[in-house]
Amino acid sequence: MTDTRVARTGAVNARLIERLKARISVPVEGREMLPSFVPFTGELLGDAPRGTREDVREAVDRARAAQGAWARRSVGERARVLRRFHALVLSRQDEILDLVQVESGKARGHAFEEVADCAIVARYYAHHAAEHLRPRRRRGALPGLTSTREYRHPKGVVGIISPWNYPLTLAVTDSLPALVAGNAVVLKPDRQTSFTALWAAELLDEAGLPRGLFGVVTGEGREAGAALIGEVDYVSFTGSTATGRTVARQAGERLIGCSLELGGKNAMILLEDADLERATEGAVRGCFSNAGQLCISIERLFVHDSIFDRFVQRFVEKTRALRLGPAFDYSTDVGSLVSRKQLDTVEEHVRDAVAEGATVLAGGRSRPDLGPLFYEPTILTDVRAGMTLFADETFGPVVSLQRFRSVDEAVEKTNDTPYGLNASVWTRDARRGREVAAQIHAGTVNVNDAYAAAWASTDAPMGGMKDSGLGRRHGEEGILRYTDSQTVAVQRLFSLSGPPGVSGERYARFLSGVLKVFEKVPGLR
Ligand code: NAD
Repeated sequence: MTDTRVARTGAVNARLIERLKARISVPVEGREMLPSFVPFTGELLGDAPRGTREDVREAVDRARAAQGAWARRSVGERARVLRRFHALVLSRQDEILDLVQVESGKARGHAFEEVADCAIVARYYAHHAAEHLRPRRRRGALPGLTSTREYRHPKGVVGIISPWNYPLTLAVTDSLPALVAGNAVVLKPDRQTSFTALWAAELLDEAGLPRGLFGVVTGEGREAGAALIGEVDYVSFTGSTATGRTVARQAGERLIGCSLELGGKNAMILLEDADLERATEGAVRGCFSNAGQLCISIERLFVHDSIFDRFVQRFVEKTRALRLGPAFDYSTDVGSLVSRKQLDTVEEHVRDAVAEGATVLAGGRSRPDLGPLFYEPTILTDVRAGMTLFADETFGPVVSLQRFRSVDEAVEKTNDTPYGLNASVWTRDARRGREVAAQIHAGTVNVNDAYAAAWASTDAPMGGMKDSGLGRRHGEEGILRYTDSQTVAVQRLFSLSGPPGVSGERYARFLSGVLKVFEKVPGLR
């Protein structure tokens, strides 16, 4: 039975939830229904069917049936859908901002980051997909003898598996380049945020995607997610490193490609010449955006000894001034955590650190007076190796502060983690910032910003080194991952093994001479 008791929050009501349910590529009848809850209040939001292996297969079959005709359309025609999506997501933002907040518990401003990100990525690929996908001339072994071109063909059906923390952006922005490259997509969102993903699917339909091309299967990761990897031609996964390893094993077994956007333990370094005002603002944003439930947020803050005390005073003051609470407008700065599981992890990390000698400079407690899952933005110092949060990702509003005396020490501490997702360096000297960045083992490094500068540079690749992932989203890599390259070489005059009638020995001598000349002529190398 479907439970129709739905929490009335923002513009999200029972009618909207029922309408979105109709967009699921899984039958509701006869399926177990999985409930989801509103983090702000703990009320029931709605429920979605637990998709089975068979449901996933059917959704992929439907997507595959629609994909051929879609791939035959020109890139320009496909890009038009992205342009319409760009317009729609901006004009319909009120409804989706409410829904993202209701499902994830985040503050309005952080929900808006998702809308803006969807628009930026849609615009980027709408205007640049054709240049990334165009056939390219490639050099043959001997110029003039072989005419070689590289073509890009869509993989077919791409599976996207997305988490709950940025439920709109992570459902949409990896899907858009897959679609414009000529693929179909089947998305398996986290069960906590199915309705945001369904809303995005509706909007893509309205923007002009053909029926069946974009499927959404709801359900459990281990069941529907694993089944999806078993059916698709490529998988784009965003989530924890532990699950990423399972996804990679399964993709490897099937010999399909995958990109893995995983966890982090990101560091910010404040050099002695940092602009303290800007750095303090940046640290607050970097540590507490989305209540710290952001893969690229900062959990370790290294501050030069000469500015440590001045920075700490400002940082603590600004952190304590953050407005925490549930609100469907821009009147709060930080929202709720998403689930009891996240709250338990945050509480456990802080409890363990304090028991082992860490000092709480701000926050350090949950706020049941605001809602069941609120936790105060928390600054810790005296954090040492051996405490759980020293090395493990907390994925919550908690940062540890440490002093350093030399750049080498800061870089060494920054790199002392199995993760390598994002880092941030603050200095008035941009060249110095770039030099420090070059020594950091992280896929993105922001100089004088926490995370948004690199993330929003959608022309540049974004992703993790080490245990933070494989492959890249955004830019050329972000779209070419969804294609297979094909090299077509047209041979002229005679074959590379020699013209007819010329002996093997003579041809070998001739070719050796030619190769020596080619090595010397810059245009022929
Ligand atoms: P998770 O790995 O538990 O779940 C992510 C998704 O994978 C969900 O949709 C889930 O249903 C699905 N899933 C779970 N088990 C699966 C399986 N065996 N096979 C296939 N799919 C499966 O991640 P989470 O804890 O919900 O998300 C938080 C993590 O995601 C954090 O570690 C965070 O750093 C990371 N993250 C990374 C990025 C990035 O871009 N690098 C972005 C957001 C979140």
